[in-house]
Amino acid sequence: MNEQFLLRMKDMLKDEFDDYLKAMDDPMHKGLRINTLKWDVDSFKNSQICEYTPTSLSEFVFEIPEESKLGKTIEHHQGLFYLQEVSACSAVEVLDPKPGDFVLDLCAAPGGKSTQIAMKLEHQGLLISNEIDSQRAQILLSNCERCGISNAIITNSAPEVLCPVLEGCMDKVLVDAPCSGEGMFRKHSKAMEDWSEAHVKACALRQKRIVDEAVKVLKPGGIMVYSTCTYAIEENEEVIDYLLQNHPEMELLESTERFGRAGFDSGKCEGSKVRRIFLMDKGEGHFVARLRKKEGTAKELKKLRTASLHKAAVSFLKDQLDYELKSVMINDKVYLAEEFYDLKKVRVLRQGILAGEIIKERFEPHQHFYSSALLEGHYLKITSCSHDEMIKYMQGEQLNKSSPKGFTGIEYQGHLIGFGKSDGTIIKNRLPKGLRQR
Ligand code: SAM
Repeated sequence: MNEQFLLRMKDMLKDEFDDYLKAMDDPMHKGLRINTLKWDVDSFKNSQICEYTPTSLSEFVFEIPEESKLGKTIEHHQGLFYLQEVSACSAVEVLDPKPGDFVLDLCAAPGGKSTQIAMKLEHQGLLISNEIDSQRAQILLSNCERCGISNAIITNSAPEVLCPVLEGCMDKVLVDAPCSGEGMFRKHSKAMEDWSEAHVKACALRQKRIVDEAVKVLKPGGIMVYSTCTYAIEENEEVIDYLLQNHPEMELLESTERFGRAGFDSGKCEGSKVRRIFLMDKGEGHFVARLRKKEGTAKELKKLRTASLHKAAVSFLKDQLDYELKSVMINDKVYLAEEFYDLKKVRVLRQGILAGEIIKERFEPHQHFYSSALLEGHYLKITSCSHDEMIKYMQGEQLNKSSPKGFTGIEYQGHLIGFGKSDGTIIKNRLPKGLRQR
């Protein structure tokens, strides 16, 4: 490991430095969070997909053995859980989103915390999940889709573009900031290779720019949670100090959760109010602080006007669904949601559920329509499959199975895995190629 880094850690941890070094050789902490939009604790336990140990953080978050390989299981594909280490789940527990809240997740990819926020919103209110990097934004999009989220807007913009548009509109904002990743050295060796004191300072500067923007979006009384997965004081307590110095409308609150340990005093940042997790605290590295906007002006997001749909989309929805949502068509794509919002010049990748697309006057459904947790129980055309059929389907094969003609959701053990188009005796496979398992 980088000598300069070790010197800094020794200076920070003092007598505990040797414990930190020892902990670096321990097995990595791995975690699983149940997606309560689709699954429950009893079903997880009965599934026996892995060994697990409950955690004190949340009844839905479990420690799982380091060697668990769950990313290719059918339950993962169905969006029943998200692989998320326990300390990475702590920030959203502190943010504490409630059904009906308007929440911005400003630095969101790959989506661990966004999908956790969405499950706490229980389909009510709005999640704006933003990622600046366009490739990472696609991963965020696919994770939100897999987890069946319906009340989210996925955006791909810089905070400087997005936050002014959301000014005064949000109840909560999560800033899970890009950082030097010192707490992730065991997981991502690249973070270790990239480390330098200059990089820590550059990250701190960027974090200050991001929180300057994030403050804007809050309504008076709104809550911000700032988190990182690094140990550097410059990127943690000093960013909170900067925020308090430069935004007198913000106050630091006591963390609602008592995981890990207190942080360090730094200027206006009281160490006793923030939380840190070191490897010795039975988690990978993390920092969490909770703040409140005392004053400001509340505004409302402008709603998007909806217009009538193409007749092929209307007839598809009538044929497939016994549930009504608002709909919009943008560039031949049809979206469903309880409400749509106008985010002006922000780059919006998805709003609500992408039901499908009009191609040559016909309606072609999208996987998101069949992975939505909100629509579960409301599909009118479902074909159940056996274990062998599920394997074939996931490999991209057609199913030789009688089923009413037309589009049908494909279900395995109570949850949809995709869709197909039946001619009465054969169901042609419509699982997107990127989701097939060879
Ligand atoms: N919250 C995510 C989760 O739980 O899966 C992890 C977020 S990661 C720690 C930080 C993210 O911030 C990265 O995806 C990175 O691309 C993004 N980022 C990088 N520079 C940024 C900037 N200037 N403004 C906002 N986000 C940025």
